[in-house]
Amino acid sequence: MRQTQLFTKTKKEAPKDEVSKNAQLLIRAGFVHKEMAGVYSFLPLGLKVLSNIINVIREEMDAIGGQELALTALQDKELWQKTDRWDDKQVDVWFKTALKNGTELGLGWTHEEPITRLMTQQIASYRDLPVLAYQFQTKFRNETRAKSGIMRMREFMMKDMYSFARTEAEHQELYARVRAAYQRIFERVGLGGRTYAAFASGGAFSKYSEEFQTVSDAGEDLIYIDETSGQALNKEVLTDEVLADLGLTRENLVEKKSIEVGNIFTLGTKFSVPLGLTFKDETGAMAPVMMGCYGIGPGRVMGTIAEVLSDAAGLVWPASVAPFKVHLLSLNADEKTLEIYDALTAAGIETLYDDRDTSAGDKFSDSDLLGIPYRVVIGKRSLASGQAEVKPRVSADVEMISFEGLVSYFTQH
Ligand code: ATP
Ligand code: MG
Repeated sequence: MRQTQLFTKTKKEAPKDEVSKNAQLLIRAGFVHKEMAGVYSFLPLGLKVLSNIINVIREEMDAIGGQELALTALQDKELWQKTDRWDDKQVDVWFKTALKNGTELGLGWTHEEPITRLMTQQIASYRDLPVLAYQFQTKFRNETRAKSGIMRMREFMMKDMYSFARTEAEHQELYARVRAAYQRIFERVGLGGRTYAAFASGGAFSKYSEEFQTVSDAGEDLIYIDETSGQALNKEVLTDEVLADLGLTRENLVEKKSIEVGNIFTLGTKFSVPLGLTFKDETGAMAPVMMGCYGIGPGRVMGTIAEVLSDAAGLVWPASVAPFKVHLLSLNADEKTLEIYDALTAAGIETLYDDRDTSAGDKFSDSDLLGIPYRVVIGKRSLASGQAEVKPRVSADVEMISFEGLVSYFTQH
Protein backbone atom coordinates (compact mmCIF):
# COMPACT_ATOMS: atom_id res chain seq x y z
CA MET A 1 0.00 0.00 0.00
CA ARG A 2 1.14 3.53 -0.72
CA GLN A 3 1.23 5.61 2.43
CA THR A 4 -0.21 8.64 0.62
CA GLN A 5 -3.36 6.55 0.12
CA LEU A 6 -3.68 5.62 3.78
CA PHE A 7 -6.26 7.90 5.40
CA THR A 8 -4.82 7.54 8.90
CA LYS A 9 -2.15 9.93 10.10
CA THR A 10 0.46 9.58 12.80
CA LYS A 11 0.37 11.95 15.77
CA LYS A 12 3.26 13.43 17.76
CA GLU A 13 1.30 13.34 21.01
CA ALA A 14 -1.05 10.87 22.59
CA PRO A 15 -4.37 12.16 23.97
CA LYS A 16 -3.89 13.54 27.49
CA ASP A 17 -6.58 11.34 29.06
CA GLU A 18 -5.03 8.11 27.76
CA VAL A 19 -2.95 6.54 30.51
CA SER A 20 -2.05 3.14 29.05
CA LYS A 21 1.04 2.69 26.90
CA ASN A 22 -0.70 0.39 24.41
CA ALA A 23 -3.45 2.90 23.63
CA GLN A 24 -1.04 5.84 23.57
CA LEU A 25 1.13 4.15 20.95
CA LEU A 26 -1.75 2.66 18.96
CA ILE A 27 -3.56 6.00 18.80
CA ARG A 28 -0.40 7.91 17.85
CA ALA A 29 0.37 5.38 15.12
CA GLY A 30 -3.21 5.56 13.81
CA PHE A 31 -4.09 1.92 14.56
CA VAL A 32 -7.08 2.63 16.78
CA HIS A 33 -9.45 5.49 17.53
CA LYS A 34 -10.82 6.12 20.98
CA GLU A 35 -14.57 6.49 20.85
CA MET A 36 -15.07 6.83 24.63
CA ALA A 37 -13.63 5.27 27.80
CA GLY A 38 -12.98 1.58 27.10
CA VAL A 39 -14.45 1.80 23.59
CA TYR A 40 -12.11 1.77 20.59
CA SER A 41 -12.56 1.58 16.83
CA PHE A 42 -9.98 -0.31 14.79
CA LEU A 43 -8.51 1.63 11.84
CA PRO A 44 -7.01 -0.06 8.74
CA LEU A 45 -3.56 -0.83 10.19
CA GLY A 46 -4.99 -1.88 13.56
CA LEU A 47 -7.63 -4.04 11.92
CA LYS A 48 -4.92 -5.82 9.93
CA VAL A 49 -3.11 -6.71 13.16
CA LEU A 50 -6.33 -7.78 14.87
CA SER A 51 -7.29 -9.92 11.85
CA ASN A 52 -3.85 -11.53 11.76
CA ILE A 53 -4.20 -12.47 15.43
CA ILE A 54 -7.70 -13.81 14.77
CA ASN A 55 -6.38 -15.90 11.89
CA VAL A 56 -3.65 -17.47 14.02
CA ILE A 57 -6.29 -18.36 16.65
CA ARG A 58 -8.68 -19.69 14.00
CA GLU A 59 -5.99 -21.90 12.45
CA GLU A 60 -5.19 -23.43 15.83
CA MET A 61 -8.86 -23.93 16.75
CA ASP A 62 -9.55 -25.60 13.41
CA ALA A 63 -6.45 -27.77 13.78
CA ILE A 64 -7.84 -29.35 16.96
CA GLY A 65 -11.21 -30.04 15.38
CA GLY A 66 -13.01 -26.83 16.35
CA GLN A 67 -16.06 -25.85 14.30
CA GLU A 68 -16.70 -22.14 13.91
CA LEU A 69 -20.14 -20.63 14.39
CA ALA A 70 -21.50 -17.18 15.24
CA LEU A 71 -23.87 -16.64 18.15
CA THR A 72 -25.96 -13.53 18.66
CA ALA A 73 -25.09 -10.46 20.69
CA LEU A 74 -28.72 -10.00 21.84
CA GLN A 75 -29.58 -12.23 24.77
CA ASP A 76 -32.88 -13.77 25.86
CA LYS A 77 -33.72 -12.90 29.47
CA GLU A 78 -35.82 -16.07 29.98
CA LEU A 79 -32.90 -18.28 29.05
CA TRP A 80 -30.56 -16.60 31.53
CA GLN A 81 -33.19 -16.84 34.27
CA LYS A 82 -33.02 -20.62 33.96
CA THR A 83 -29.43 -20.59 35.21
CA ASP A 84 -30.10 -17.77 37.71
CA ARG A 85 -27.63 -15.51 35.97
CA TRP A 86 -30.00 -12.77 34.72
CA ASP A 87 -30.34 -11.28 38.20
CA ASP A 88 -27.03 -12.58 39.56
CA LYS A 89 -25.58 -9.71 41.61
CA GLN A 90 -22.07 -11.09 40.98
CA VAL A 91 -22.41 -10.24 37.30
CA ASP A 92 -21.93 -6.50 37.43
CA VAL A 93 -20.94 -6.04 33.78
CA TRP A 94 -24.29 -6.62 32.04
CA PHE A 95 -25.65 -4.07 29.60
CA LYS A 96 -29.43 -4.59 29.63
CA THR A 97 -32.13 -2.79 27.70
CA ALA A 98 -35.83 -2.45 28.46
CA LEU A 99 -37.85 -2.12 25.27
CA LYS A 100 -41.01 0.03 25.02
CA ASN A 101 -43.26 -3.04 25.25
CA GLY A 102 -41.65 -3.98 28.56
CA THR A 103 -39.45 -6.79 27.20
CA GLU A 104 -35.92 -6.86 28.56
CA LEU A 105 -32.92 -7.87 26.48
CA GLY A 106 -29.27 -8.31 27.38
CA LEU A 107 -26.12 -7.67 25.37
CA GLY A 108 -23.95 -10.79 25.44
CA TRP A 109 -21.03 -10.71 27.87
CA THR A 110 -20.41 -14.48 27.60
CA HIS A 111 -22.25 -17.30 25.80
CA GLU A 112 -22.55 -20.47 27.90
CA GLU A 113 -26.34 -20.27 28.09
CA PRO A 114 -27.12 -19.72 24.40
CA ILE A 115 -24.66 -22.34 23.18
CA THR A 116 -25.88 -24.92 25.69
CA ARG A 117 -29.50 -24.39 24.70
CA LEU A 118 -28.56 -24.47 21.01
CA MET A 119 -26.76 -27.80 21.49
CA THR A 120 -29.89 -29.41 22.97
CA GLN A 121 -31.18 -29.35 19.38
CA GLN A 122 -28.02 -30.97 18.01
CA ILE A 123 -26.82 -33.46 20.61
CA ALA A 124 -28.99 -36.44 21.51
CA SER A 125 -26.80 -39.53 21.58
CA TYR A 126 -23.25 -40.54 22.51
CA ARG A 127 -22.67 -40.69 18.74
CA ASP A 128 -23.08 -36.90 18.57
CA LEU A 129 -20.16 -36.30 20.95
CA PRO A 130 -17.58 -34.94 21.43
CA VAL A 131 -18.03 -31.43 19.99
CA LEU A 132 -15.70 -28.43 20.00
CA ALA A 133 -17.48 -25.27 18.84
CA TYR A 134 -16.11 -21.73 18.80
CA GLN A 135 -16.78 -18.23 17.64
CA PHE A 136 -15.23 -14.78 17.27
CA GLN A 137 -17.85 -12.47 18.59
CA THR A 138 -18.34 -9.05 20.13
CA LYS A 139 -18.84 -9.11 23.88
CA PHE A 140 -20.20 -6.21 25.88
CA ARG A 141 -19.08 -5.69 29.46
CA ASN A 142 -19.50 -2.58 31.48
CA GLU A 143 -15.97 -2.71 32.88
CA THR A 144 -15.51 -0.22 35.67
CA ARG A 145 -11.73 -0.14 35.45
CA ALA A 146 -11.43 0.69 31.74
CA LYS A 147 -7.96 2.27 32.00
CA SER A 148 -5.88 -0.32 30.17
CA GLY A 149 -6.53 0.77 26.60
CA ILE A 150 -7.50 -2.07 24.26
CA MET A 151 -6.64 -4.62 26.94
CA ARG A 152 -9.85 -3.84 28.81
CA MET A 153 -12.61 -2.67 26.54
CA ARG A 154 -16.32 -2.41 27.19
CA GLU A 155 -17.06 -3.74 23.69
CA PHE A 156 -14.52 -6.27 22.51
CA MET A 157 -13.90 -9.26 20.32
CA MET A 158 -13.61 -12.60 22.07
CA LYS A 159 -12.81 -16.02 20.77
CA ASP A 160 -14.84 -18.32 22.94
CA MET A 161 -14.75 -22.06 22.48
CA TYR A 162 -17.00 -24.55 24.24
CA SER A 163 -16.37 -28.27 24.54
CA PHE A 164 -18.99 -30.99 24.95
CA ALA A 165 -17.98 -34.44 26.11
CA ARG A 166 -19.51 -37.74 27.23
CA THR A 167 -17.32 -38.39 30.22
CA GLU A 168 -14.89 -36.67 32.55
CA ALA A 169 -12.04 -38.51 30.82
CA GLU A 170 -13.17 -37.33 27.41
CA HIS A 171 -13.50 -33.80 28.77
CA GLN A 172 -9.93 -33.94 30.08
CA GLU A 173 -8.71 -35.00 26.65
CA LEU A 174 -10.46 -32.05 24.97
CA TYR A 175 -9.19 -29.68 27.66
CA ALA A 176 -5.60 -30.84 27.09
CA ARG A 177 -6.02 -30.37 23.34
CA VAL A 178 -7.22 -26.78 23.75
CA ARG A 179 -4.50 -26.07 26.30
CA ALA A 180 -1.81 -27.18 23.83
CA ALA A 181 -3.43 -25.08 21.07
CA TYR A 182 -3.33 -22.03 23.38
CA GLN A 183 0.37 -22.53 23.95
CA ARG A 184 0.94 -22.63 20.20
CA ILE A 185 -1.14 -19.47 19.73
CA PHE A 186 0.81 -17.40 22.27
CA GLU A 187 4.07 -18.71 20.83
CA ARG A 188 3.01 -17.78 17.29
CA VAL A 189 1.87 -14.23 18.12
CA GLY A 190 5.19 -13.44 19.79
CA LEU A 191 4.23 -13.83 23.46
CA GLY A 192 5.90 -17.20 24.03
CA GLY A 193 8.53 -17.35 26.76
CA ARG A 194 6.74 -14.72 28.86
CA THR A 195 3.28 -16.31 28.95
CA TYR A 196 2.50 -18.85 31.68
CA ALA A 197 -0.44 -21.19 32.18
CA ALA A 198 -1.21 -20.12 35.74
CA PHE A 199 -3.47 -22.10 38.08
CA ALA A 200 -6.49 -20.15 39.22
CA SER A 201 -9.62 -21.04 41.14
CA GLY A 202 -11.88 -23.45 39.35
CA GLY A 203 -15.48 -23.18 40.49
CA ALA A 204 -17.83 -26.00 41.46
CA PHE A 205 -16.64 -28.66 39.01
CA SER A 206 -12.89 -28.61 39.13
CA LYS A 207 -10.40 -27.51 41.67
CA TYR A 208 -8.54 -25.30 39.22
CA SER A 209 -8.91 -23.40 36.01
CA GLU A 210 -5.94 -22.06 34.11
CA GLU A 211 -5.23 -18.51 33.05
CA PHE A 212 -2.70 -17.72 30.38
CA GLN A 213 -0.79 -14.85 31.94
CA THR A 214 1.77 -12.70 30.14
CA VAL A 215 4.32 -11.11 32.44
CA SER A 216 4.13 -7.31 32.15
CA ASP A 217 4.22 -4.33 34.47
CA ALA A 218 1.07 -3.13 32.73
CA GLY A 219 -0.78 -6.17 34.07
CA GLU A 220 -3.65 -5.98 36.55
CA ASP A 221 -3.01 -9.49 37.91
CA LEU A 222 -0.32 -10.89 40.17
CA ILE A 223 1.10 -14.34 39.57
CA TYR A 224 3.71 -16.43 41.30
CA ILE A 225 6.17 -18.29 39.08
CA ASP A 226 8.44 -21.20 39.93
CA GLU A 227 11.18 -20.40 37.46
CA THR A 228 12.75 -23.87 37.58
CA SER A 229 9.64 -25.80 36.58
CA GLY A 230 7.90 -22.97 34.70
CA GLN A 231 4.75 -23.52 36.79
CA ALA A 232 2.71 -20.52 37.83
CA LEU A 233 -0.33 -19.69 39.88
CA ASN A 234 -2.55 -16.70 40.37
CA LYS A 235 -2.06 -14.86 43.64
CA GLU A 236 -5.75 -15.40 44.43
CA VAL A 237 -5.21 -19.17 44.86
CA LEU A 238 -1.91 -19.07 46.69
CA THR A 239 -2.59 -21.30 49.72
CA ASP A 240 -0.57 -24.04 51.37
CA GLU A 241 -3.03 -26.59 50.00
CA VAL A 242 -2.51 -25.44 46.40
CA LEU A 243 1.27 -25.39 46.84
CA ALA A 244 1.12 -28.97 48.12
CA ASP A 245 -1.11 -30.01 45.19
CA LEU A 246 1.35 -28.56 42.70
CA GLY A 247 4.48 -29.68 44.55
CA LEU A 248 5.76 -26.10 44.87
CA THR A 249 7.57 -24.33 47.70
CA ARG A 250 6.79 -20.76 48.63
CA GLU A 251 10.47 -19.74 48.81
CA ASN A 252 11.03 -20.61 45.15
CA LEU A 253 8.20 -18.45 43.85
CA VAL A 254 8.75 -15.09 42.20
CA GLU A 255 5.92 -12.55 42.13
CA LYS A 256 5.21 -10.87 38.79
CA LYS A 257 2.55 -8.52 37.45
CA SER A 258 0.79 -10.07 34.49
CA ILE A 259 -1.94 -9.71 31.88
CA GLU A 260 -4.56 -12.45 31.50
CA VAL A 261 -4.56 -13.10 27.76
CA GLY A 262 -6.65 -16.26 27.82
CA ASN A 263 -8.31 -18.69 30.12
CA ILE A 264 -9.55 -22.27 30.08
CA PHE A 265 -12.16 -23.66 32.39
CA THR A 266 -13.94 -26.89 33.24
CA LEU A 267 -17.67 -26.21 33.49
CA GLY A 268 -18.74 -29.78 34.22
CA THR A 269 -22.55 -30.02 34.17
CA LYS A 270 -23.16 -26.52 35.56
CA PHE A 271 -25.02 -25.45 32.40
CA SER A 272 -26.07 -28.79 30.90
CA VAL A 273 -28.16 -29.77 33.95
CA PRO A 274 -30.35 -26.63 34.27
CA LEU A 275 -30.73 -26.30 30.48
CA GLY A 276 -31.38 -29.98 29.84
CA LEU A 277 -28.41 -30.78 27.61
CA THR A 278 -28.35 -34.56 27.97
CA PHE A 279 -27.44 -37.50 25.75
CA LYS A 280 -28.26 -41.20 25.60
CA ASP A 281 -25.15 -43.23 26.39
CA GLU A 282 -24.13 -46.66 25.02
CA THR A 283 -26.34 -48.42 27.57
CA GLY A 284 -29.38 -46.32 26.73
CA ALA A 285 -29.19 -44.29 29.93
CA MET A 286 -29.52 -40.48 29.86
CA ALA A 287 -26.60 -38.40 31.16
CA PRO A 288 -25.77 -34.67 31.25
CA VAL A 289 -23.05 -33.45 28.84
CA MET A 290 -19.68 -32.45 30.36
CA MET A 291 -18.65 -28.98 29.28
CA GLY A 292 -15.60 -26.72 29.21
CA CYS A 293 -15.08 -23.13 28.04
CA TYR A 294 -11.99 -21.47 26.61
CA GLY A 295 -11.55 -17.73 25.97
CA ILE A 296 -9.02 -15.46 24.33
CA GLY A 297 -9.40 -11.74 23.63
CA PRO A 298 -7.66 -10.91 20.31
CA GLY A 299 -7.79 -7.19 21.20
CA ARG A 300 -6.23 -7.85 24.59
CA VAL A 301 -3.54 -9.96 22.87
CA MET A 302 -2.85 -7.05 20.50
CA GLY A 303 -2.65 -4.61 23.41
CA THR A 304 -0.34 -6.99 25.26
CA ILE A 305 2.00 -7.25 22.27
CA ALA A 306 2.05 -3.44 22.15
CA GLU A 307 2.85 -3.29 25.89
CA VAL A 308 5.58 -5.89 26.06
CA LEU A 309 7.38 -5.66 22.71
CA SER A 310 7.35 -1.90 21.99
CA ASP A 311 10.37 0.29 22.76
CA ALA A 312 11.02 3.99 23.28
CA ALA A 313 10.66 4.66 19.54
CA GLY A 314 7.32 2.95 19.08
CA LEU A 315 5.47 -0.25 18.31
CA VAL A 316 7.18 -3.53 17.42
CA TRP A 317 5.12 -6.19 15.63
CA PRO A 318 6.24 -9.79 15.24
CA ALA A 319 6.05 -10.81 11.57
CA SER A 320 3.12 -13.16 12.32
CA VAL A 321 0.77 -10.29 13.18
CA ALA A 322 2.40 -7.22 11.59
CA PRO A 323 0.19 -5.08 9.30
CA PHE A 324 2.92 -5.23 6.63
CA LYS A 325 6.21 -7.05 6.42
CA VAL A 326 8.24 -4.31 4.78
CA HIS A 327 8.21 -0.55 5.22
CA LEU A 328 9.75 0.90 2.10
CA LEU A 329 11.03 4.45 2.52
CA SER A 330 11.90 6.57 -0.43
CA LEU A 331 13.97 9.59 0.56
CA ASN A 332 13.58 11.20 -2.85
CA ALA A 333 10.47 10.15 -4.72
CA ASP A 334 11.95 8.28 -7.62
CA GLU A 335 11.08 5.76 -10.28
CA LYS A 336 13.42 3.15 -8.84
CA THR A 337 11.59 2.92 -5.50
CA LEU A 338 8.27 2.57 -7.27
CA GLU A 339 9.77 -0.26 -9.32
CA ILE A 340 10.98 -1.98 -6.15
CA TYR A 341 7.57 -1.48 -4.53
CA ASP A 342 5.86 -3.08 -7.53
CA ALA A 343 8.29 -6.01 -7.53
CA LEU A 344 7.85 -6.69 -3.79
CA THR A 345 4.07 -6.43 -4.03
CA ALA A 346 3.93 -8.67 -7.11
CA ALA A 347 5.95 -11.27 -5.18
CA GLY A 348 3.33 -11.24 -2.43
CA ILE A 349 5.53 -9.41 0.10
CA GLU A 350 3.26 -7.09 2.01
CA THR A 351 4.78 -3.66 1.70
CA LEU A 352 3.86 -0.21 2.94
CA TYR A 353 5.53 2.34 0.68
CA ASP A 354 6.17 5.71 2.28
CA ASP A 355 5.80 7.88 -0.81
CA ARG A 356 4.86 10.98 1.19
CA ASP A 357 6.45 14.31 0.46
CA THR A 358 7.92 14.76 3.91
CA SER A 359 11.34 14.91 5.57
CA ALA A 360 13.61 11.88 5.97
CA GLY A 361 13.49 12.45 9.74
CA ASP A 362 9.69 12.22 9.79
CA LYS A 363 9.78 9.08 7.67
CA PHE A 364 12.26 7.39 9.98
CA SER A 365 10.44 8.29 13.17
CA ASP A 366 7.04 7.31 11.75
CA SER A 367 8.52 4.03 10.58
CA ASP A 368 9.74 3.27 14.09
CA LEU A 369 6.36 4.26 15.53
CA LEU A 370 4.43 1.96 13.15
CA GLY A 371 6.64 -1.01 14.03
CA ILE A 372 6.70 -2.89 10.72
CA PRO A 373 9.34 -5.69 10.96
CA TYR A 374 11.70 -4.49 8.18
CA ARG A 375 12.59 -1.03 7.02
CA VAL A 376 14.02 -0.64 3.51
CA VAL A 377 15.52 2.73 2.68
CA ILE A 378 16.25 3.97 -0.82
CA GLY A 379 18.26 7.19 -0.64
CA LYS A 380 20.62 9.10 -2.91
CA ARG A 381 23.55 6.86 -2.02
CA SER A 382 21.66 3.66 -2.67
CA LEU A 383 20.40 4.94 -5.99
CA ALA A 384 24.04 5.41 -6.99
CA SER A 385 25.21 2.03 -5.67
CA GLY A 386 22.14 -0.03 -6.62
CA GLN A 387 21.71 -1.20 -3.06
CA ALA A 388 19.00 -0.69 -0.47
CA GLU A 389 19.52 -0.32 3.27
CA VAL A 390 17.61 -3.08 5.06
CA LYS A 391 17.12 -2.81 8.82
CA PRO A 392 14.98 -4.97 11.11
CA ARG A 393 12.79 -2.87 13.44
CA VAL A 394 14.32 -4.55 16.49
CA SER A 395 18.02 -4.17 15.75
CA ALA A 396 20.49 -1.55 14.60
CA ASP A 397 22.12 -3.90 12.07
CA VAL A 398 21.85 -2.48 8.59
CA GLU A 399 22.40 -4.79 5.64
CA MET A 400 23.00 -3.56 2.11
CA ILE A 401 20.97 -5.62 -0.36
CA SER A 402 21.05 -5.13 -4.12
CA PHE A 403 17.79 -3.92 -5.65
CA GLU A 404 17.52 -7.15 -7.64
CA GLY A 405 18.11 -9.23 -4.50
CA LEU A 406 15.33 -7.67 -2.38
CA VAL A 407 12.52 -9.99 -3.44
CA SER A 408 14.52 -13.13 -2.71
CA TYR A 409 15.80 -11.62 0.58
CA PHE A 410 12.25 -11.09 1.83
CA THR A 411 11.04 -14.40 0.50
CA GLN A 412 13.69 -16.01 2.71
CA HIS A 413 13.37 -13.79 5.80
P1 ATP B 1 -10.47 -10.20 33.55
O1 ATP B 1 -10.30 -10.91 34.86
O2 ATP B 1 -9.22 -9.60 33.02
O3 ATP B 1 -11.64 -9.26 33.55
P2 ATP B 1 -12.12 -12.31 32.64
O4 ATP B 1 -11.83 -13.37 33.61
O5 ATP B 1 -13.33 -11.48 32.82
O6 ATP B 1 -10.85 -11.34 32.50
P3 ATP B 1 -12.98 -14.06 30.56
O7 ATP B 1 -14.40 -13.80 30.85
O8 ATP B 1 -12.44 -15.39 30.90
O9 ATP B 1 -12.08 -12.90 31.18
O10 ATP B 1 -12.68 -13.75 29.03
C1 ATP B 1 -11.81 -14.52 28.23
C2 ATP B 1 -10.74 -13.65 27.63
O11 ATP B 1 -11.29 -12.49 27.00
C3 ATP B 1 -9.76 -13.08 28.64
O12 ATP B 1 -8.77 -14.01 28.95
C4 ATP B 1 -9.22 -11.88 27.90
O13 ATP B 1 -8.23 -12.27 26.96
C5 ATP B 1 -10.42 -11.40 27.14
N1 ATP B 1 -11.11 -10.31 27.81
C6 ATP B 1 -11.88 -10.36 28.93
N2 ATP B 1 -12.37 -9.16 29.25
C7 ATP B 1 -11.91 -8.31 28.28
C8 ATP B 1 -12.08 -6.91 28.05
N3 ATP B 1 -12.82 -6.17 28.86
N4 ATP B 1 -11.47 -6.38 26.97
C9 ATP B 1 -10.72 -7.13 26.15
N5 ATP B 1 -10.52 -8.43 26.30
C10 ATP B 1 -11.11 -9.03 27.37
MG1 MG C 1 -13.62 -9.63 33.52
